[in-house]
Amino acid sequence: MKTFLKIILCVGLVSLLTGCGRQSKSPAYSVDTAMGTIIKQTVYTSGDAKEMMEDIRQEIVSLEEDWLSRKKESSAIWQINDQAGAGEGTETDEYLWDILEKIYQVSEDSQGALDITIGETVQLWNIDEYAAQSGSAEDGMSFRVPDRAEIEATLSRCGYRKVRLEEGRIYLPKGMSLDLGAVGKGIACDKVLEYLKEQTVVQGAVISIGGSILTYGQKPDGSAWRVGIVDPWDTSSYMGSLVLEDEWCVSTSGDYERYVEKDGVRYHHIIDPSTGYPADAGLISVTVLSKDGCLSDALSTACFVLGAEKATVLLEKYDAYGVFVEKDGNVILTLGMEKFYESR
Ligand code: AMP
Ligand code: MG
Repeated sequence: MKTFLKIILCVGLVSLLTGCGRQSKSPAYSVDTAMGTIIKQTVYTSGDAKEMMEDIRQEIVSLEEDWLSRKKESSAIWQINDQAGAGEGTETDEYLWDILEKIYQVSEDSQGALDITIGETVQLWNIDEYAAQSGSAEDGMSFRVPDRAEIEATLSRCGYRKVRLEEGRIYLPKGMSLDLGAVGKGIACDKVLEYLKEQTVVQGAVISIGGSILTYGQKPDGSAWRVGIVDPWDTSSYMGSLVLEDEWCVSTSGDYERYVEKDGVRYHHIIDPSTGYPADAGLISVTVLSKDGCLSDALSTACFVLGAEKATVLLEKYDAYGVFVEKDGNVILTLGMEKFYESR
């Protein structure tokens, strides 16, 4: 009887030490869609991995439906856009307020290279729509480069400085709209991180949400996470990888992600708010590493518009690190990135 009791006590102690349950040695994987993009999950858990991955997907779906979507009437951004020009503005919850303040600061620090009011010009080019159908306008699609006058007209309805954030209300001028496409995937990484931190049975995870990737916790064998950086010239392979421990967010903005080609010119989805045309500052890909998902996504877009020199200064201010690929193939690592980057 005494031996039996000892065994029970021992088993109890071992479960306590291992965090109530066995650690999973091999991960669970899933691939889904949410937020109009592909969600890839790798999760090490001693709990129900399938349920956990569905919960994570649901977190992303809710973020889109309740907060960020510009197409769904249920979202806070849709409501702000719908009430553009209304004198009394739109009441904004603290969660979205904090995000908008963070984005506003990146806009200021990047001299407007990141501007979430650029939506009207983005809509005019409509690159996302064309790129979703085909990579090339020669395929019989009616892609047309907008006239200078049309671009100017939409630009007059853009400009983050025209938006006021006052006492919990946002005032968006008539004809303007917010588009969080440049930051949404990173915000989703932050949301998923919050969820993962509440799960005692998750040891480690890598969650990829479109162009933003979250790493969390550890692998059971103690080895580091490796996050690949897509080769802009051959998007089916990687040019290198980031070797990461614990929690990080990696966001990439590239001209190969969504574009249309017409008469030998590539028109891509990242617009330079100072010209209204697709950004052309010498870069074809920017990857940013930050502890904050919203910032890594915001900064990757801003850096792409700014070009390598100004982007380096911007990243230093945010304690973030970058890998920039220039048009001629030159790869630039910002200070500190050499600790993480391994070329292929
Ligand atoms: P990303 O791939 O994160 O760089 O975000 C690109 C998306 O953000 C585009 O598809 C547009 O919806 C939107 N966008 C394009 N240019 C800008 C810009 N300069 N500032 C903010 N959002 C932008
Ligand atoms: Mg971005």
